[in-house]
Amino acid sequence: MKQASKLFLTPDAADKASYIEMMTATAQAVAAAMDHPHAYAGMEPYTLRDAVHTDEMLPEKGSDFAAILEEVKARILPNLLRPMSTNYMAHLHSPALLESIASELIIATFNQSMDSWDQSPVATEIEVEVIRNLCKMYGYDEELADGVFTSGGSQSNLSGLLLARDWFCNTALKWDVKKSGLPENFRKFRMYSSEIAHFSMEKSAHLMGLGYESVVKVPVNDAMQMDLAALKALIAEDVKNGNLPFCIAATVGTTDFGSIDDMKELRKLCDEYGMWLHADAAYGSGVVMSKKYAHRVAGLADCDSITVDFHKMFLLPISCSASLVKDKRNFDALTIHADYLNREEDEEDGYINLVNKSMQTTRRFDALKVWMSFKMRGAEGWSEIITRCIDNAAYFYDRLAVNKDVEVFVKPEISSVVFRVLPLPDSKEDADTVNKRIRRELLHNRGVVIGQTVCKGHVSLKFTLLNPLLTHEKLDELLSLILSLR
Ligand SMILES: *Cc1c(COP(=O)(O)O)cnc(C)c1O
Repeated sequence: MKQASKLFLTPDAADKASYIEMMTATAQAVAAAMDHPHAYAGMEPYTLRDAVHTDEMLPEKGSDFAAILEEVKARILPNLLRPMSTNYMAHLHSPALLESIASELIIATFNQSMDSWDQSPVATEIEVEVIRNLCKMYGYDEELADGVFTSGGSQSNLSGLLLARDWFCNTALKWDVKKSGLPENFRKFRMYSSEIAHFSMEKSAHLMGLGYESVVKVPVNDAMQMDLAALKALIAEDVKNGNLPFCIAATVGTTDFGSIDDMKELRKLCDEYGMWLHADAAYGSGVVMSKKYAHRVAGLADCDSITVDFHKMFLLPISCSASLVKDKRNFDALTIHADYLNREEDEEDGYINLVNKSMQTTRRFDALKVWMSFKMRGAEGWSEIITRCIDNAAYFYDRLAVNKDVEVFVKPEISSVVFRVLPLPDSKEDADTVNKRIRRELLHNRGVVIGQTVCKGHVSLKFTLLNPLLTHEKLDELLSLILSLR
């Protein structure tokens, strides 16, 4: 056999053999690393830092792949966090479904770039199809709606809110932000989101030139949803003061509690005041897949834009997200033509250049992961996965609610449960200290990674249940373990 180039996968048989050999060796090393159930091996930050310290990142002479893989096996693989472990429930951070890892191999190998058709011919057409089907799935009119894959919920939120701002300026103020920048009265712009909405609201407001002060934080009710009476009062107050309400951002699944804002009522307010309704469904977008629970997010169809994250409830590898828009004409805000990339004449001849809808230029073929996984598991398979996660949270909540050693706060609408452990009667530590200590103890000594947040002023523990392999027995076991550490 001819010498392999050792650079790329090429038509050459020797290169194909090296490709298969390297991928196989990698897959074997990864599989072999899965030999214990821990979510994390436990090393503390300073120890881990010392263990990987190197001044030899770029040695004068390289080594062969096998030697590098050995080093990865020794130093990196054992210390990687394992989101696939049933001992992991800290964040909206999911294990990756097997078929989607295969998708990643295709995505990386062919390295399509989704900005222009000539860099991603069939990939562009697949993304268009996936987006069209997603629009339908969320209740949009597929002829009028559109969307684009993004790097994550934060970018999808920025994209939705930017379209909201430009739509408001175009329609209410007859002002073209794209051409002329912000109008003079931009300091009066107001958007509303719950006080427990994701911080990407404020970040987006900053990036859009409106600043944090444009984001009105609406108090939440006992169910951790935006309080509608408070929201109405805040809007009325703003209108009275000459401010310009332009958008409500509903959170469809808050990061900590999974609580869902009332989209039907928010829609009415948006219509009354001429506002855009954005849905940050980075978390809750997955609920649509559960035949049992989809009705909880039916209001998404009433929103003008939707943030969907596939790297949370949908169990696809990072990154994978989409920004959907009910009226595709609003994407004009993100269109700019470049002679070298997305010529206007291309479109007339049927070449779709997806960069026209995107903040990113070079972009991954993440739509393939959705395409392969949806086709492989079907509506039934998907419904089982999502329903199980939501049922698990309901089960765990019920267990906590009857346990006098813990306090649990909100009945989960999706799959997150926030609670705190109450100290033993003779404990010398206060409750906050006990809860913090237990989380650290689990992380470093028990291989269990759970979340921590603050609820109603108390340090609390959080189970974010995204792993359908979790069983009721396992949840009971974890609760016993946690209580035993008091
Ligand atoms: C995770 C999350 C985001 C941010 O999404 P990324 O994909 O991490 O950028 C936004 N909103 C909510 C409600 C989230 O839970």
